Amino acid sequence: MELIVEVRSDDPTRPLSNLLRIPLGLDVWEANADRLVLRADEAPIDRIRKMGYQIQQIVPVEAHLSTFATEVSREGYHSAQSLEDDMRQLAESRPDLAALHEIGRSVEGRPIWALQLGERQAGTRKLLFMGCHHAREWIAVEVPFLLARELIEQADTPEMSRRLTQGQFWIVPMVNPDGHEFSRTDNRLWRKNRRRNPDGSIGVDPNRNYGYMWGTLDIPTSSHVPSDETYVGPRAFSEPETRAVRDLVAIQKFAGLITYHSFSQLVLYPWGYTAEEIKDPVDRATLSELARGMSECICQVHGKLYTPQPSSQLYPTAGDTTDWTYGEYGIPSFTIELRPKTVEEGGFILPASAIRPTWEENRPAVFYLVDRLLEAPARAEAAVPSV
Ligand SMILES: [Zn+2]
Repeated sequence: MELIVEVRSDDPTRPLSNLLRIPLGLDVWEANADRLVLRADEAPIDRIRKMGYQIQQIVPVEAHLSTFATEVSREGYHSAQSLEDDMRQLAESRPDLAALHEIGRSVEGRPIWALQLGERQAGTRKLLFMGCHHAREWIAVEVPFLLARELIEQADTPEMSRRLTQGQFWIVPMVNPDGHEFSRTDNRLWRKNRRRNPDGSIGVDPNRNYGYMWGTLDIPTSSHVPSDETYVGPRAFSEPETRAVRDLVAIQKFAGLITYHSFSQLVLYPWGYTAEEIKDPVDRATLSELARGMSECICQVHGKLYTPQPSSQLYPTAGDTTDWTYGEYGIPSFTIELRPKTVEEGGFILPASAIRPTWEENRPAVFYLVDRLLEAPARAEAAVPSV
């Protein structure tokens, strides 16, 4: 039986971080200094217990699903098709402002859509917002979609009109449509894409498949084992979903980006592959300040704390989106882990009633970042971060 368990350690010689270095095929749901939350079968859980860690069962996976994955909750979220329909409708409502682009196709041939909004003149600063690299993180589709809708519906207000004149927005709410569809029809907790691997297992983790320091770690949170939840793939950009993003970024030369995930309520910035800080002092200060600023904007709305921190403080990952966009292009890049904070609040299965407040609190954070990046002095064209 699959269980969701909490792991603690009261022995300082056996920190929880050690557990994240052992290949046990774990699905890590929460990682804090004093508590790990894992989804795993009973056998690996027994092994962890025998190693001396304290294990407390939170809930069997089936019970978690029947509590949270209800029909009502499902109806509040987009499918790949309803998202396409809604994005098309948004684009058609303001052809002067918006254009819908297919930036690539998934493993199973589904289109990956990007909505381009705002000023199209050469030289305009461009910003990228993405969602749903991970299939089960449905709220990560809704936040960038609601950003697109807000930009269009409020386009004629002075504030939004200024942003749409100063900048150009690219919004890709569903990078992994195959996985998302599978999480709707077959397995609500599916994470990866739907690649058929040579060993018969399915799926590559798109957020471990980017080409900066790709594959340099081999641990449960960034794994070379194809059946693992964080399988990095056979090589960097082996997947059509990450190639679509790679090609868009290479052409558009973005001045900043957010990629939305869930859950845990965090504002993350590079690096993921190393615990070392960004070497360039200006970049280091800028990224941590922007992350802190976004966290403060979020907290002011409904009092929810999204902790700002370097990505590797959650757990180490190699080949994630923001390491690549910052490492390769120097783009100020953030991963926002949306609501909820804990598995007890639903984990990946956020009740649909929380979509609206999650957007409400993320809205001022997005526009804080947008305004800061649109106002910032131009970066040197060939600026490459020192690593
Ligand atoms: Zn994710």
